[in-house]
Amino acid sequence: MTARIIDGKTIAAGVRAKVAGEVRRLSSQHGLTPGLAVVLAGNNPASETYVRSKAKQTVETGMRSFDHRLPETVSQDELLTLVRKLNADPTVHGILVQLPLPKQIDAQLVLNTIDPAKDVDGFHPVNAGRLATGLDALTPCTPLGCVILAKTVHDSLAGLEAVVVGRSNIVGKPVAQLLLAENATVTVTHSRTRDLPAVCRRADLLIAAIGKPEMVRGDWIKPGATVIDVGINRVEGAGGKSRIVGDVAFDEAAKLAGAITPVPGGVGPMTIACLMVNTVRAACAIAGLPKPAV
Ligand code: NAP
Repeated sequence: MTARIIDGKTIAAGVRAKVAGEVRRLSSQHGLTPGLAVVLAGNNPASETYVRSKAKQTVETGMRSFDHRLPETVSQDELLTLVRKLNADPTVHGILVQLPLPKQIDAQLVLNTIDPAKDVDGFHPVNAGRLATGLDALTPCTPLGCVILAKTVHDSLAGLEAVVVGRSNIVGKPVAQLLLAENATVTVTHSRTRDLPAVCRRADLLIAAIGKPEMVRGDWIKPGATVIDVGINRVEGAGGKSRIVGDVAFDEAAKLAGAITPVPGGVGPMTIACLMVNTVRAACAIAGLPKPAV
């Protein structure tokens, strides 16, 4: 068997087009333009690239983008003051504080200070709790992207054996909650799991969010399974050039899987597209409007 490739780039473009359509409708019917504020402290090059892409896609989907750059030396008080100002700003519907933060900052305290209604990263404990209890919540973007990708393969995830490798608050735990909400039978695995390959071989839907290059091998895959690879790992390639690989050994896994995401070009593009989705959802909720069609 050769797996169907799940083309995250094209699927993300489709999601952004739907967001743009909803933004046009909100503007014409309600005079509402969703706004996303992104806060970047310091000059981490990877964070700068992410923040640029986020601002670009925000503008391209017709929303307002507010960029806040702070120096590496910013104090906790300065950062919290900015977050509180954005909480109170009616033109801002989504607030994202780019992680990692400089070492003098307590990142959890910053995340906890964001108004949960504007928490488009979905990291606030209120949103994590709402997701876990089955209430409407702003959900973390990468997990949301994983579920959208899985649903391009399966009309319904109900009853599927889903195995999640990794239990981080950013990916593993929220993706497990989303899959549970879709009525999958979910197993969450981690570094202490016994016989991980055997657990993975049970999966109709396997989500790998580990951060270990190509750890999931071909013989861990149940024939016909759907494999969603969240990993982004930079490794040394031929001629000393670096390249990006996922947490799944793609060539081996693609021989057995029914469908698989590539890295890059799978989950990655979905993350920012889902940030756009969350910003429109937050804007509608704050304005007391029905959920948007995206
Ligand atoms: P993380 O916080 O480091 O969590 C990694 C998880 O993997 C932990 O739960 C850890 O288990 C588990 N793990 C580590 N080694 C393992 C092993 N040998 N066997 C089984 N489980 C193991 O990482 P993360 O933030 O979730 O990110 C995971 C990967 O996704 C990274 O490559 C990251 O770059 C990527 N990522 C991509 C996107 C995107 O937009 N595509 C977004 C976020 C993250 P313990 O809990 O037991 O330590």
